[in-house]
Amino acid sequence: MSKTVCAYCGVGCKFEFRDEKLKPIKSYPTNSGLACAKGLSQIKSIFIDRCKEVKIRESIKDNFKTSNYDEAINIIASKLKKTAPERVGFYLSGQMLNEDYYVANKLAKGFIGTSNCDTNSRTCMASAVVGYKKSFGVDYVPLGINDIDKANLLILTGANPAESHVVLFNKIKKAQKKGLKVVVIDPRFTLSAKIADIYLPIKVNKDIDFFNLLALKLIKDDSVDKDFISNHTNNFDSFKEEILKLDGTKLLENTELGIDSFEKFYKLFKESKNIITAWTMGINQSSQGVDKNLAINNLHIITGQINKEGSGPFSLTGQPNAMGGREVGGLSTTLAVHLDFNEENCKKVAEFWNSENIAKQNGLTAYEMIEAANEDKIDILIICHTDPIYHLPNRNFVQKAISKIPLVVEINAYEDSETSKYAHIVLPALPFGQKEGTQVNLDRTLTRVESLYPKDGILQDWEIFTKIGQNLGYEEEFSFKSSKEVFEEYQKMTKLSFQRHLNIFETNYDKLKEKPFVWGKNLFKNSTFLTKNKKANLFFVENQNLSEQASKEFPFILLTGRTRDQWHSGSKSAKVDSLLKFKKLEFVEINSTDANKLGLKEGDMVKVSSKRGELKAEVVITDINLKTIFIPLSHRDINFLTDDLLDNLSKQPDYNHSAVRIEEWKESF
Ligand code: SF4
Repeated sequence: MSKTVCAYCGVGCKFEFRDEKLKPIKSYPTNSGLACAKGLSQIKSIFIDRCKEVKIRESIKDNFKTSNYDEAINIIASKLKKTAPERVGFYLSGQMLNEDYYVANKLAKGFIGTSNCDTNSRTCMASAVVGYKKSFGVDYVPLGINDIDKANLLILTGANPAESHVVLFNKIKKAQKKGLKVVVIDPRFTLSAKIADIYLPIKVNKDIDFFNLLALKLIKDDSVDKDFISNHTNNFDSFKEEILKLDGTKLLENTELGIDSFEKFYKLFKESKNIITAWTMGINQSSQGVDKNLAINNLHIITGQINKEGSGPFSLTGQPNAMGGREVGGLSTTLAVHLDFNEENCKKVAEFWNSENIAKQNGLTAYEMIEAANEDKIDILIICHTDPIYHLPNRNFVQKAISKIPLVVEINAYEDSETSKYAHIVLPALPFGQKEGTQVNLDRTLTRVESLYPKDGILQDWEIFTKIGQNLGYEEEFSFKSSKEVFEEYQKMTKLSFQRHLNIFETNYDKLKEKPFVWGKNLFKNSTFLTKNKKANLFFVENQNLSEQASKEFPFILLTGRTRDQWHSGSKSAKVDSLLKFKKLEFVEINSTDANKLGLKEGDMVKVSSKRGELKAEVVITDINLKTIFIPLSHRDINFLTDDLLDNLSKQPDYNHSAVRIEEWKESF
């Protein structure tokens, strides 16, 4: 009987495949027999609207002609040979398995010599990666899902697991019955907020003010962990000095939270022995995403709420294999296996891959590739299992920029991506259910993904990248015959990771079928971190209010996010009737007071516009904060509105703070 892992969210539920149905596995530690409707139903959509034929065309104005893999790969390879490496980009995805990531990364950074090889994970958790590296010296999530059972307090900030990580949320509810307290900090009264012991409706973008206020009070009350600070922490004195300069009353005012609710939360925080803070895009997708992560990490460091059961700063990865992509080296700011770009690492990797063409420095990140395309600096963009035209912010700009690229290659399993309208070559690939390899979930659990159905002549991503490598003349270096062979080379490479901390080399491909492997267990044993002097770093950060601000013309701030039963653009989930009955795909949530002022009622159609674009949506009245609206990712036009401001360090876009206007829909629009 085949076993596989869900291809939707980062929880990574494991299933058995029996009688054409997916059954969640009870003994699997991540989901313990649980699953959500979206995960279970993906079996129904595997074969709907599949991309089955290789297609090519000279110009995006032409119609596609049917082709075959060999002809298309010949064209790609011959253009790659004629193009300077820095004019080539790879746009990968958290939907790819480790093996797919590995071969793509090896081809791009190792043999073509371009580090412009990034992944759509850049848009969901790059700020957490940078935050972890700065605070602890390594991109490492220092706890697991089942730590929730051992925590006394769970703080959910900028996260709505009731819709985005459903099985995790069910585990939270179970733990709550046994005494876990849950605090939800969110400008939107989400489904997760409904179960909160304390709900804090923070003003949009005031997260740093909130966490600094908490640090200020803890330091003033002498409620920090002095032993942990003196033995395991850098910069506490300067951090304390800066924090004490802050005005607590002003910080609280900024958050627009009441003093009573803050004090109630503060009391609970101080009384809790084990604390987890968990977050997702509400924190990461911000022009201050890294600083927000650091503000959270700071609190766990000064209170010693890390490296013990039931505690720690927990970034909840959104996509099924975003973590694997981080580890393999899919981000343009990593060379491979957690190795940054520097002379020593480039030498090691060049020797391992036996290549003279290794990329030597950080490449362009996802959105930077688009900006470069707009300046005619990209000649070839290879996009794999993702739809940047749909998901990147400021869509009008993205469309214009991508249309300037002379060769856009789309590798995809499904037909109806927005990006395919801009592609010159479309290569069909295998989706969940037909591909095989390994995948890593949000708490570093590495497991095997088995295929449930035959491949039907379609290639898996790693096979496509292997063929391109061979066509470029690297037959020996790209001689992989199976996912297992790719995995085993990747495993060997993980021995190069600094301190061999990425100890994936300790498991094996066959064993992973039955038993998952959690890499880096006890990596921070005895609270020794991977910084130079093994201590955790504190960084004082302040809210600089860098995001777009509301104005007279655009008086609302737009929040974006998932809904429980849809996965991103809905290329699979929106095809399943049973999922469509729960929620509409294209709605806008607005507070009743704001709706009244605008003369709007539930079900009305409205035009929402920002200075970048507009969309049409149906009004849903909720308890969202005043002057704040929410539109889900399932709205196909969402990114005509969103802002393309990036965090300075992580280069993650600021999807959650776009200034918009709402008006009643008129047919004349
Ligand atoms: Fe589990 Fe997430 Fe898949 Fe639902 S979508 S089954 S929670 S992995």
